Amino acid sequence: MMTSNTHANLVLRNFIAGEWIASVSGEVAADINPAATGEVVAETPLSVRADVDRAIAAAAAAQRRWRDTPAPARAAVVSRAADVLAGRVDDVASDLTREEGKTIGEAKAEATSAIAKMAYAAGDALRMAGETLPSGTEGVQLYTMREPLGVVAVVTPWNFPLSTPAGKLAAALVTGSTVVLKPASLTPLSAVRLVEAFVAAGIPAGVLNLVMGGGGTIGSALVSDPRVRGISFTGSTAIGVGVARDAAPTLAKLQLELGGKNPLVVMEDADLDAAAKAIVEGAFFSCGQKCTATSRVIVHRDVKAALTAKLVERTTALRVGKGLDAANHLGPLVDAKQLETVQSYIEIGKKEGARLLTGGERLSSGEHAHGYFMRPAIFDDVQSEMRIACEEIFGPVLSLIGVASLEEAIETANRTEYGLSSAIFTRNLGYAQEFTRCIQAGVVKVNGQTPGNAPNMPFGGRKMSGLGISQKQIDFFTELKSVYQRFN
Ligand code: NAP
Repeated sequence: MMTSNTHANLVLRNFIAGEWIASVSGEVAADINPAATGEVVAETPLSVRADVDRAIAAAAAAQRRWRDTPAPARAAVVSRAADVLAGRVDDVASDLTREEGKTIGEAKAEATSAIAKMAYAAGDALRMAGETLPSGTEGVQLYTMREPLGVVAVVTPWNFPLSTPAGKLAAALVTGSTVVLKPASLTPLSAVRLVEAFVAAGIPAGVLNLVMGGGGTIGSALVSDPRVRGISFTGSTAIGVGVARDAAPTLAKLQLELGGKNPLVVMEDADLDAAAKAIVEGAFFSCGQKCTATSRVIVHRDVKAALTAKLVERTTALRVGKGLDAANHLGPLVDAKQLETVQSYIEIGKKEGARLLTGGERLSSGEHAHGYFMRPAIFDDVQSEMRIACEEIFGPVLSLIGVASLEEAIETANRTEYGLSSAIFTRNLGYAQEFTRCIQAGVVKVNGQTPGNAPNMPFGGRKMSGLGISQKQIDFFTELKSVYQRFN
């Protein structure tokens, strides 16, 4: 078992070479409930470089054997882990809500998404295909084969602490790669719950390793180690750029899934009720802490007043409170720093001349007394150059920008350094096609909200929102070998 109960708190341990062990540092940090800050959900190790070194060594030692394990057997482990998780959804979701804050409904949906990603990856184990190609030389056969990358590092954020690592781990493992996972410091318990499912499924020692601790120390040590041949990183653009720099000397294969400033365009012919629902859910659910959250609504002036009224009405009706209370729509922000950052953007927006229509205030009395709660905010009269329209806020703050045409809407939508998700609401096929063609984003939704991705669709961003996105996740965790075979 990786956990033991001391003073009613869980004590988490790293998982290295098939064993749950404490960090060599002996240091621990508290995993705090952001909805009830007096509650320590767990104690988590503050690992150091030596722990990372052991984890990488274990992954390297297990690599050959795992690579040579037949693909159906690798797939079976991942599939069993998905089944184990499916049997534990309620407990895992409750832990997730307690350490991250999202509502219990969202936590269950995330667990379900994690299971779907694992099940999809398990199927892909048997689709690791190469190609045969016509040869220019008689007696020589040409073909390509896909091979596992080897030891891979998976570094993940706190906002989807279960589903993000689940998809990456499953895809890496089915290819025959071995993994060292470094989860976000704010959400170690969800990572432990995920690894426990793989352990229960019979993952061999060393194939999957988990090291917990600070990104600046162990994350950096992990991604710069020459034994690591692939890095799948999800997190902020600033840290992602640093990871790319750290990984450059080893030329490890890199996948970066980074920040967003996602636009949703509403044209004059749109179904405004459907648009308002999608905007409010896309902007504010998970407290706006989604890389794909809607943060800019770019609306045709003919319908701006009508849409704005619907948005304000829906937003003021949202209930903010503890995520474990199923009646609430928004939980707290994840920690004090995140709350402070988002609150500072409320002030920045006001100073820049945007008009705060609703929300933005911190909630700190009654049931909100011991958590990082705030009311979701809508700014009107936002200009594209304002910081609230350009920078990722990562909280429940929405900007409204009026435009006069589709052309202006697309130009406005593309005017940030990001390019992750996007959406348009319209009944005009021509508008939809033009938007789809011209928007600089990795994901486009027509008459749908900006968040949400299917397990069998590629997911990733353009520009400063990411790189290394492939048709299938298993493509990232493999590399091609070109074979020229003379057989006579
Ligand atoms: P973050 O601060 O960039 O951290 C992400 C991960 O990187 C964490 O595990 C972090 O560890 C680690 N890390 C920190 N410094 C590191 C370093 N120098 N070297 C290697 N690893 C390091 O992001 P976050 O605050 O957890 O998550 C929010 C961000 O993630 C937002 O920008 C959001 O848009 C983005 N995101 C993107 C996607 C996507 O698919 N495009 C999905 C979800 C989230 P610590 O926790 O210990 O600092």
